Amino acid sequence: MRLADRLQQIKPSATLAVAAKAAELKAAGHDVIGLGTGEPDFPTPPAACDAAIAAMQNGQTKYTAVDGTSELKSAIIAKFKRDNSLLYSPSEIIVSTGAKQALFNMLLALINPGDEVLIPTPCWVSYPDMVRLAGGVPVELYASDRQNFKVTAAQLEQAITPKTRLLMLNSPSNPTGMAYSKAEYQALGELLARHPEISISSDEIYEHIYWGTEPFISFASACPELRDRTMIVNGVSKAFAMTGWRIGYLAGPEGLVTAMRKIQSQSTSNACSIAQAAAAAALNGDQTSVSLMRDEFKQRHDWITKALNDIPGVECKPCDGAFYVFPSFAEAIIALPGIEDDGAMAEWLLEHAQVAVVPGSPFGAPGHLRLSYAAAMDVLQQAVTRIRDALEKNLPA
Ligand code: PMP
Ligand code: GLU
Repeated sequence: MRLADRLQQIKPSATLAVAAKAAELKAAGHDVIGLGTGEPDFPTPPAACDAAIAAMQNGQTKYTAVDGTSELKSAIIAKFKRDNSLLYSPSEIIVSTGAKQALFNMLLALINPGDEVLIPTPCWVSYPDMVRLAGGVPVELYASDRQNFKVTAAQLEQAITPKTRLLMLNSPSNPTGMAYSKAEYQALGELLARHPEISISSDEIYEHIYWGTEPFISFASACPELRDRTMIVNGVSKAFAMTGWRIGYLAGPEGLVTAMRKIQSQSTSNACSIAQAAAAAALNGDQTSVSLMRDEFKQRHDWITKALNDIPGVECKPCDGAFYVFPSFAEAIIALPGIEDDGAMAEWLLEHAQVAVVPGSPFGAPGHLRLSYAAAMDVLQQAVTRIRDALEKNLPA
């Protein structure tokens, strides 16, 4: 069968591919440790599960409004007020099937063929391909570990052309774990204020998995003067360990939200009614599980960063949040005979250490590997020991 040309522009998601490969090897009896998956290894809060059961029993099993139930929208509005001091009205909110769909529909609503979208890299693997599927041109701006993987206003300024329509931010970042400070956002905001044709999307899905020195700040709070062209993307997948429930949301200008609702009305309609009830309960409920999870991730972060830095050929920056480390394996790649790049390095680790990690290139950062520490401490310890043993055995003296 002949497939559409647009398929030639994109690859399957590398993060999901590594997770699937690790699961497949494990199912076939191999002793593989999967550090590829980007999802919390914690249970969904019981209050969310109870709300889902109640929703099923109460008959909340029918179509809802395309852009979300009023109950969930109220919970989202309350969340923005509580956590970010941001005020939104229901017409400025849309609920989608995961933050992934919210981002995708936003791009479909905003991007014309040939429009350029600025994407600071390292970035989440799906951003550039989502832009391509929407007909846009991803323009990647590399921010190395020397600048803590964060893009500067000067870099943005150099990349802006008459075709630039959107800047896609993500803080704390997948894959680097780094977060922008208020001052860093404001420096970007000052430049963007001079370019009214550029909109900004800020993916804040790791907001609650954060331990930076300053309190977490939303881009919309740091740069209120840009509110009428800022879209905040968030969801319950990470904060409440609800990846499988598929509830994400976007807050932004009413015109854009209306356009996204139109697109969603002709594609998927509403997100799952039962999952919406669960998400509302998670957002409105006791937030203790969120901080317990964050504390546990922070402990793992501190341990794994140090342990990786103790391995010859590996360099790992401490970061502000999320549950990934993004070490450079550049020295190990150069030193290991027959290993040419991060893709080969990841395959080598799977073979020689039985540890699955995601190569840096799909995130726009060759020479790096992404390790997710959404795994129990003893599993992480075993994984790092295996990586160290394999490298020590094979690196030339
Ligand atoms: N943005 C980022 C940066 C992510 O890492 C993820 C996780 N896959 C998402 C968005 C999408 O999350 P979800 O679709 O599960 O809400
Ligand atoms: N955000 C996660 C990751 O990067 C989930 C997988 C995905 O949707 O990419 O691994």
